[in-house]
Order: sequence, then C-alpha cells, then structure tokens
Amino acid sequence: MLDDKDRIFTNIYGMHDRTLAGAKARGHWDGTAGIIQKGRDWIVDQMKASGLRGRGGAGFPTGLKWSFMPKESDGRPSYLVVNADESEPGTCKDREIMRHDPHTLIEGCLIASFAMNANACYIYIRGEYIREKEALQAAIDEAYDAGLLGRNAAGSGWDFDLYLHHGAGAYICGEETALLESLEGKKGMPRMKPPFPAGAGLYGCPTTVNNVESIAVVPTILRRGPEWFASFGRPNNAGTKLFAISGHVENPCVVEEAMSISFEELIERHCGGIRGGWDNLKAVIPGGSSVPCIPGKLMKDECIMDFDWLREQRSGLGTAAVIVMDQSTDIIKAIWRLSKFYKHESCGQCTPCREGTGWMMRVMDRLVKGEAEPEEIDMLLDVTKQVEGHTICALGDAAAWPIQGLIRHFRDEIEDRIKAKRTGKVSAVAAE
Ligand code: SF4
Repeated sequence: MLDDKDRIFTNIYGMHDRTLAGAKARGHWDGTAGIIQKGRDWIVDQMKASGLRGRGGAGFPTGLKWSFMPKESDGRPSYLVVNADESEPGTCKDREIMRHDPHTLIEGCLIASFAMNANACYIYIRGEYIREKEALQAAIDEAYDAGLLGRNAAGSGWDFDLYLHHGAGAYICGEETALLESLEGKKGMPRMKPPFPAGAGLYGCPTTVNNVESIAVVPTILRRGPEWFASFGRPNNAGTKLFAISGHVENPCVVEEAMSISFEELIERHCGGIRGGWDNLKAVIPGGSSVPCIPGKLMKDECIMDFDWLREQRSGLGTAAVIVMDQSTDIIKAIWRLSKFYKHESCGQCTPCREGTGWMMRVMDRLVKGEAEPEEIDMLLDVTKQVEGHTICALGDAAAWPIQGLIRHFRDEIEDRIKAKRTGKVSAVAAE
C-alpha cells in the first residue's frame, strides 16, 4: 500500500486548508523558481525519466509529448492547454484535484508551460463543474496576488498567464482537438489529424494538451526526483495514480495508490470490499465507460491495475475509473445505457459514428428485451468492428468497445435472454 508520505495529493478529501497558505504548508510552491532555473531540457528529461504516462486515458508518455514542442519559436507563441473536461461516465478524479488541491495543478501549469516555451496556459473545465471552477479560480486569483503567476512568475524570470475557460457541457469537448475548437469559440467538433496540436493546435500555434492529473503531479516529481516516482508500479507503468472506484462496493471513493496494485487489494483496503462479498462480483469496467468490461472472477484472481495488464485482457486502464458491478446488475442493460450515452454525444461529423452509434444502441435495446434473433449478436459485433478505427476521433471506438466486451464475456446471457423471451419468461425491459 502507498504510504502517506508518498502521496502527491495530500488534500484530496478536502480535510485541510486548500488555500495558498495551506498548500505551502504541505510543501507545494517550494523552490519553484529553482526548478525553472534548471532549464527546459532538464525538466523534459526528468519527466521522461519518471516514466509518467498521461493520466487522461490514452497513457502516452508525458515527457515525450512535451519534447514534440518546438524548441525555438518561428514567431508563433506556444500554448499549454489543460484538459479538465472530465466527462467520461465513472470518472471523477480530476474534480477532487481542482476543488481540494488546486495549487498542485496551478504550480504544474507554470512549470510545464515553461518547459514547452509557453507564456500562456488555458485550463478548459467541464461545464457542469461549477463549484470546481469557483475553487480553481479562487486559487488562481490567490496565486496572482502572491506573484506566483503573471510577470516574473514565482520569481523565476518567466512571464506566465493562466486562464480558466468554462466549457458548455459537451462530452466530445474532452477530445483534445474538439477542445481546441471549442476554446477558439467554435463548435466542439474534432479535427482531422495530422496536423497534430504540437505542430498546429490552438489558433494554429504549437500546443500540448495534457490531463489535469498529468500536470498536477509534475512539481512533486521534479522535487522528489524521477527515480522516486518510477519506484512505484511495474516497469512501463510507473508512479502513483488516482483511482475512482464507483458502483457495487461498500465505500465508493477516489484514492491515490501505487500503479500495478492488485484489484483485490485496491477494493479491500479502500472500498470495504465488494457489496455482498467477492462471490457476488459480476463484472468490472476498469478504466471509465469506454473500455471493455472484464468478468469478476478474472478481476479477483489475477488483476493488476495498470496499463499493460489491462491491455493484455483486451481492456484498458483508461482514466482508472473503476466501475464495479455485482450479480444484481443487468449487464446487457448496463452496456445498453452506455450505448445510449455515446449515441447522444456523437458530434455527427463522420458517418460510421453518427449512424453506427444509433444503430448499435437500437440493437442493444432489443437485446435487453430479448427481442432479437441469435444471429444478430454476431451482426452487432461486426458493426462494432466497422465503426472501430474508422472515425475521426476515438468516440467511435468508445462506443464499440463496451459492446465488444459484453459479447466477448457475456454472450451466454444475451442468448439466454433471447430464448427466455421466446418462452415468455423475460421481464427486463430497456428504460427510456
Ligand atoms: Fe464526431 Fe463521432 Fe466522428 Fe468523433 S467519431 S468526430 S464524435 S462523429
């Protein structure tokens, strides 16, 4: 288990003072100017050595991503954009940073922006996060008043401005290029890539988009050293991580733990166990609603909560939003609900997603009721494959994967329901 002394987020539950004075008392904003004075290359190299992989879902190495930014300006400014549009069902970890430990993020923004030659950073926060926005804005104002932001930020010699932008509540604006469009005042529709944001991002200028947690951990990594961070988790899965556990556990929570912790330990230590005991565990969605579910038995016996192990099971760590479902769950209906969500959130720009998400949802609707032919299960699987990988952004994949996981692991249940319907025994009906 992660010791308290190794936690980066020491006020994640809001038990302590979240103001600047409180943050400083917990060790934040300590020697910030000294870190910046070590130079850009040093910071990027340290981040690479730490092994930090992006905490927003894709798990791309953060230091490597930073190194794609131009070292010398061609006349255009560079930008850091922080993706705080946390909207994936089940995911609620960044909000805890923003409302309870905001100075970790603000200090991270300054250091990361300096490392990428950016004098300005935008935090794009989810529309529904009203209180989080207020808390974060109060912390930004405090930092300006204390000289930690603005001209000669924190006495580092670097001029730096930090802006908080409030989104309007569209899930797709969490996709990095849609986020940039929205920030520019346009409709939040994903862009074709290339060009990638590091070449032409916000206002056509070099831009890096990072998740809140990825940026908030930066100052502590640089203060304590990359070896310290890399000492947690298996190789290629370094560091500590915020896990957000919801669903059928005794105590749902957000907790910082070492990567590669076993699922059993995570649940037993922090969540008080599975509701009704481990035999009552049916399935787990381990990384936010877009990743395929994994059957409970596999999760109990073998699961290592990190990028590599979960990928080997054809699922993913994603945002580490762990959705636990016990035997009382109608798993077909649960996945149908996700299909409905993705259908609703599709921006409609590309045909496989616009048409496919609705098509998949309607078939799922009939599977919930058992009103389908058994052959339609394979037909549905085939359609998910036609959507997956054939769209502009990853929403198409996100809509396809939960259904693929359902069919892979719970095909029997779908078939049983179709049979039961034919014999008049089914009672499950998809809710409107
Ligand atoms: Fe829009 Fe869906 Fe295409 Fe993404 S995959 S650009 S959400 S239509």
